Amino acid sequence: MADIIQLLPDHVANQIAAGEVVQRPASVVKELLENAIDAGATTIKLVIKDAGKTLVQVIDNGKGMSVTDARLSFERHATSKIKTADDLFQLNTKGFRGEALASIAAIAHVELKTKQEHEDVGTCIEIEGSKVNKQEVVVTPKGTSISVKNLFYNIPARRNFLKSNTVETRHIIDEFHRVALAHSNISFVMFHNGSETFNLPESNYRQRIVNIFGTKTNEKLVPVDEDTEVLKISGFVGKPEFAKKTRGEQFFFVNNRFIKSAYLNHAIGSAFEGLLKDGAHASYFLNLTVNPQTIDINIHPTKTEIKFDDEHTLYAILRSAVKHSLGQFNIAPVLDFDR
Ligand code: ADP
Ligand code: MG
Repeated sequence: MADIIQLLPDHVANQIAAGEVVQRPASVVKELLENAIDAGATTIKLVIKDAGKTLVQVIDNGKGMSVTDARLSFERHATSKIKTADDLFQLNTKGFRGEALASIAAIAHVELKTKQEHEDVGTCIEIEGSKVNKQEVVVTPKGTSISVKNLFYNIPARRNFLKSNTVETRHIIDEFHRVALAHSNISFVMFHNGSETFNLPESNYRQRIVNIFGTKTNEKLVPVDEDTEVLKISGFVGKPEFAKKTRGEQFFFVNNRFIKSAYLNHAIGSAFEGLLKDGAHASYFLNLTVNPQTIDINIHPTKTEIKFDDEHTLYAILRSAVKHSLGQFNIAPVLDFDR
């Protein structure tokens, strides 16, 4: 029998990997925003057209890329963020898989413009279906702009599978909120179809929450602060009387990364026991800081689920910290913007 196994060409491998990383325009938003943050940006602009189906663009004032790096950034497993497998357990970046740009470039039309501070000119690269169509020198400000057009143009089944603009926009706004909440020290603006939909100046955490969810949110927030050897908690829970039937404003960030955890969510529910009306859900905006060696982020390509070494202890600390705050909180509206 003849041998039948072949190595897949890169563009095919990239397209397959893209299926895991990029589900919808919001996935592109997440990856590009995270890259901008990893690049040290202090100002990030997100531009969307047609719920991201026509355009997702992220412009940052971060450190930019050299000509060689600009080109390499689209290769799979090409990353500046880790060097060894051990680095996975001391991450201080959002990215590390080196997959996002390669995946996105396999299934969209991408234009990258980037310049480092000390350079006079930058680099512009156009790439589509993993094929570089153009690379030239451009005059562009310090930082990086990446435009992702016509997502899934070469995978009609995926493109048709996208939901209505309302639903896709909702997903994009969710990702935008998560990233903006995790980084209140960075200023963000968002434009959709030419109009400004968010303008979030650099601020403290409470102000960032209020800027996103509205002035009325301010009086609903109860501070939570706890500092133990294994877990540091900071942030807010919503006062029980404001809890709604819809599960909306529930945010856990672990080491500045938004994560979903049914287990930790349960810890909050249990801290609110007896305080909520039937069927109501507590809101929370909680930042958990743990030793990076005690978590594994690399269990899913989108990194929204992580594995903790000792979930039970975290559960207990979290529950008791929230209970303590709820027990202490002052019924009068909290109006100070300082914490
Ligand atoms: P990862 O973020 O996992 O490293 P990506 O495919 O998202 O993988 O990006 C590949 C590389 O391209 C990054 O490691 C980084 O060096 C570079 N890069 C991507 N986006 C930016 C940006 N906005 N500014 C500077 N460098 C960037
Ligand atoms: Mg990345």
